[in-house]
Formats: sequence, C-alpha cells, structure tokens
Amino acid sequence: MIDIPAESDVGEGDVRDNPDVEMPLVLINPKVAGHTDDVQIGQEGCLSFPDIFAAVDRWYEIDAEYTDLEGNPQTLHAKGLLARAVQHEIDHLDGILLVDRMSHVKKVALSGKLKRLSKKTKMEL
Ligand SMILES: [Zn+2]
Repeated sequence: MIDIPAESDVGEGDVRDNPDVEMPLVLINPKVAGHTDDVQIGQEGCLSFPDIFAAVDRWYEIDAEYTDLEGNPQTLHAKGLLARAVQHEIDHLDGILLVDRMSHVKKVALSGKLKRLSKKTKMEL
C-alpha cells in the first residue's frame, strides 16, 4: 500500500507527477511491466530501517501491472516519487531491502547504526 500526499507528488516546476492516481493506492502482486531509460538517484528511507536514509537509483518512470482489491488486473503509469515507492515495495516482495541497494561505502558508514538497530530489534522480539 502506498500513500503519497499530494504536496509530495511534485516534479519539476512544482507540477504534480501523478495527478490522476488516487491515494492510498493498493497494489496486489505488483510488477514492473516497463520503464523509461531515465534513472534518478534519490534519498530513500524505509519503515523497516528507522532514521536510515540512502541514495538509491530508480527508474524515473514505470508502467506497473497489479491486481486491485476487487481482484481485477490493473495497470499504472507512475513517475517520480510514486514510481520510486512502487519499485521500493516490489523490492520488499522480492526480499530486497534498502541496505541491499546501498553502496558498500554507505553500508560501512552506517554499520554502527545498523548494528544498534539489529540489536534493538532482537531484544524486542
Ligand atoms: Zn521499505
């Protein structure tokens, strides 16, 4: 599920990137069906890793296929932050996490923070 506020769905010149997409957006078994060649590097965070942000390359525009809550096949054209969010969530479904997308240098720089987070998470189980 993705819920991007309208004020965050803006690209160049403060124009909405995805004005026709209703939020929150529920995508069941989403897949990237196509994408433009443009890759954009952007800071990404993840609820699984509080307070950790890393630069990740993502396709700027994608076409996604998914099933909606009524069980109907749907397609979505997304750009900017929404395209990034869809790719991030598909990564989760494929078992790929933000830390897997980080550069080695970034991972080393964050290793103390990641170790503390891992320790804290294990203690709370
Ligand atoms: Zn995430």
